[in-house]
Amino acid sequence: MLNPSSNPADVIIIGGGPAGMSAALVLGRARRNVLVIDEALPRHRVTRESHGFLTRDGVSPSELRKVAHEQIAAYPSVRFIQTVAANIEGNDGAFQVTTGDGETYIGRKLLFATGMKDLPMNMKGLEDVYGKSAYVCPYCDGWEMQDRPIAIIAGEHTMHLTRTVAGWSNDLAVFTNGSPRPEEETNELMRRGIPVYDAPIREIASEAGETVAIVLEDGSEIARTAIFFAPKLAPGSDLPVHLGCDVNESGTMVVDEIGRSNVPGVFGAGDGASQKYQVAAAVAAGSMAGVGINTELLELDWEKRILNP
Ligand SMILES: Cc1cc2nc3c(=O)[nH]c(=O)nc-3n(C[C@H](O)[C@H](O)[C@H](O)COP(=O)(O)OP(=O)(O)OC[C@H]3O[C@@H](n4cnc5c(N)ncnc54)[C@H](O)[C@@H]3O)c2cc1C
Repeated sequence: MLNPSSNPADVIIIGGGPAGMSAALVLGRARRNVLVIDEALPRHRVTRESHGFLTRDGVSPSELRKVAHEQIAAYPSVRFIQTVAANIEGNDGAFQVTTGDGETYIGRKLLFATGMKDLPMNMKGLEDVYGKSAYVCPYCDGWEMQDRPIAIIAGEHTMHLTRTVAGWSNDLAVFTNGSPRPEEETNELMRRGIPVYDAPIREIASEAGETVAIVLEDGSEIARTAIFFAPKLAPGSDLPVHLGCDVNESGTMVVDEIGRSNVPGVFGAGDGASQKYQVAAAVAAGSMAGVGINTELLELDWEKRILNP
């Protein structure tokens, strides 16, 4: 039992998505005593298949997680608990994490792998199709949606997302949802045969998760069978900020190439510490943070090893 301070963990990882599990694997193999505190709400849980991660193309997010847990179980010094980390105090060498159920755990180092979360979508019908025929990232799901009639609903990201999705389908239509884009953008789109609908969206019509049409406030129904959109995002946790970690304007932790934040002993990895938003990138960052954390611990242990200080 890692709880309480009588047996501190070498590392407490908050968040057990791809980034946190990857760090746990590296640290378990480095014989570190690791506690992963995970609320178990990874961002891609809404989707049926995860794509583009070598050797795991097309597996479900739950299968990805199951296999990761099975493989990490080979390293018994790693323990997972499913709960939320609610508060953190302390400093490098002794961070005290209190969970939502009131337990406290001590860790020498801390890794935030808390991801990003979608804010409420405020569009009737969108949640019904999210992860089934409405997606956020063409690199993740463009192949499956290729050549479909696709709706782009992306606010300020409209031009970037439209130009990107154009690699997967010629049949695109832009919906500004009542917030018209600058005239030159509309002209640029129209010149390429991409219609722009400025009326507010009343709802997304769908059947069993499959998009059928975008229904506008004026009553018109534009047949579309797929959507790419830009959701509003927030950091998965505000604990890094409470601990004094620097974040950028989108709330992403500022870390170096091995995940070190500005706060000694505190690391970040994955979507919450980059804006790459890919499983492969999260896994790579978690792995690097695992190495970075272990390197700091090895240095401390090396100093302690001196026989006659
Ligand atoms: C619809 C959709 C489809 C996607 N498809 C793909 C795809 O096909 N291929 C691809 O490469 N990427 C895909 N992605 C992106 C992918 O989901 C993310 O890049 C990846 O999940 C990031 O991993 P992460 O570990 O950083 O964060 P997450 O997977 O979001 O995990 C963060 C974890 O931290 C936990 N957590 C947060 N705060 C706390 C706290 N205070 N206490 C305890 N636990 C906490 C959360 O519950 C969660 O379990 C998709 C994303 C979406 C939204």
